[in-house]
Amino acid sequence: MLKQFFSYYKPHKRLFLIDFFSAIFVALLELAFPVAVQSFIDRLLPQENWGLIATVSILLFVVYLLSTFLQYIVSYLGHKLGINIETDMREQLFTHVQRQSFTFFDNTKTGHIMSRITNDLFDIGELAHHGPEDAFISIMTFTGAFSIMFYVNPTLALIALVMVPFLIALVTYCNIAMNKAWHNMYGRIADVNGRVEDAVSGVRVVQSFTNEDFEINRFKTDNNLFRKAKIGAYRVMAATHSSIYMMTRLLTLLVLVVGAWLSYKNQLTAGELVSFVLYTNVLIKPIDKVSALLELYPKGMAGFKRFQELIAQEPEIKDKEDAMSVKKLIGDITFDHVSFSYDQHKSVLNDISLNIRPGETVAFVGPSGAGKTTICSLIPRFYDIDDGSISIDHINIRDMTKKSLRSQIGIVQQDVFLFNGTVSENIAYGRRNATEEEIRVAAHKAHLDEVIQNLPHGYNTQIGERGLKLSGGQKQRLAIARTFLKNPPILILDEATSALDTETERIIQKSLTELAENRTTLVIAHRLATIRDADRIIVVTNDGIAEQGSYDELLAKNGIFAHLHNIQFDPVTNGSLMS
Ligand code: ADP
Ligand code: MG
Repeated sequence: MLKQFFSYYKPHKRLFLIDFFSAIFVALLELAFPVAVQSFIDRLLPQENWGLIATVSILLFVVYLLSTFLQYIVSYLGHKLGINIETDMREQLFTHVQRQSFTFFDNTKTGHIMSRITNDLFDIGELAHHGPEDAFISIMTFTGAFSIMFYVNPTLALIALVMVPFLIALVTYCNIAMNKAWHNMYGRIADVNGRVEDAVSGVRVVQSFTNEDFEINRFKTDNNLFRKAKIGAYRVMAATHSSIYMMTRLLTLLVLVVGAWLSYKNQLTAGELVSFVLYTNVLIKPIDKVSALLELYPKGMAGFKRFQELIAQEPEIKDKEDAMSVKKLIGDITFDHVSFSYDQHKSVLNDISLNIRPGETVAFVGPSGAGKTTICSLIPRFYDIDDGSISIDHINIRDMTKKSLRSQIGIVQQDVFLFNGTVSENIAYGRRNATEEEIRVAAHKAHLDEVIQNLPHGYNTQIGERGLKLSGGQKQRLAIARTFLKNPPILILDEATSALDTETERIIQKSLTELAENRTTLVIAHRLATIRDADRIIVVTNDGIAEQGSYDELLAKNGIFAHLHNIQFDPVTNGSLMS
């Protein structure tokens, strides 16, 4: 895993090297300082040469200026490095998520993706910056300081060294505890995010069932679990810091006491004693740093592990290596013995065969859950089938690139997603290089032009979550305009007007009929009145395709369709069912 982690440094090699060598230089200066102090006290002071003392002082000052500058470089470039890596990873993650297949989104909570893209990556960035640099510098200063101490006075150096295993044991113990605590905390925050996501996107349902208190209580429970986990993590952190602090002060005290004794015995000069105390501080610093790293490492690595898990998930639906980019299809769609299930346990489509001729309008009707939407989702390859084949113009859709296949299919659904942006931008989502004139023509075809003219800023009016709200009918028109712009040979209308009132539906229907002209069209309709003019109607039930034929043929047949028809148009039940 570390190897994969380090691969992210590659694009920033130069930055890393400058930062790294500056850090080494700072560490060297730090190592040299106590030696300088020692010579100052032991050699320079007794000479009482004030001119020389002044010169040396100025020299020290210059060295300090240099060290300060280098520390600035290290801090600035180090963070820059971390932020760059974090940005790269975030981009990679977003790109990856954006390319995932529908199954991924069926099974992954938005909150979890969000917390990976934000929280996790902050920690990874911090680790990327501090990790290798601090680890290396710590080892270097530690061995450096110890070697010098040993050279000056082996006895005292060894006494100081005796403390080190205790420190290491303590730090390792803390590391394990901390690792567990952070991991726990991350799980809990993901739960909290998931709850927020649910309650916010489902707020209409929550409020219509007046389940606010229920949701608040569920949230409280999760929020409290997170609180406990976070407090727990910080308690472990506080305990770690204070016990390490205590150990280090103990070390300083030990050196001071033993050093004083040695100096009394004339085995240590005053300068040496001072430099020893200074060196114990140099010795402690890396241990401090390592302990900070130990706090950062599990956090960052836990995040990186989750990042990797996500990145490792290959999109389920991928282009074959020799997939071809299809140009303009005419829309001759064939399902040949198609079977499909979302998961192994429950088959949704079983051995479905059907052909839709170019330019034909085929309506799918039947009970909800029968698999109408599923049939339509298979054509743009949102899901791959388990058995059989689907071809368009006699080319298996698996032999086409996803991009070229999907560019041939327009879909208008019940829910229209509006992006934050202007009306114009939202229409242009259908074909992003469209000119203003083309956008206007598309809007006009969708009978939306007039509505837009009356908006406060016309085509430049902001809509979407952060802007103006459009009515259901207006949203549908916008979706239709988008599809006009895209101008695909194949059109799927999945209950496009089911959410609208009958009057609005009737008006939108006209735009839809115009949109369907000269395209192979699959219509899923709830209200049978809207599919009177379909070339063919296919009745789908849980057992597959039950009947097909024209409106009148199916009525004459007096089967399932006729039954559905009678329910909808029966004047007695009409009122309740047409609602
Ligand atoms: P229809 O459009 O005819 O109402 P669908 O095609 O939406 O029916 O659903 C057919 C069956 O597949 C239903 O049993 C439904 O529960 C199931 N289903 C639909 N979408 C998914 C999905 N994304 N994941 C798992 N099961 C699904
Ligand atoms: Mg459906």
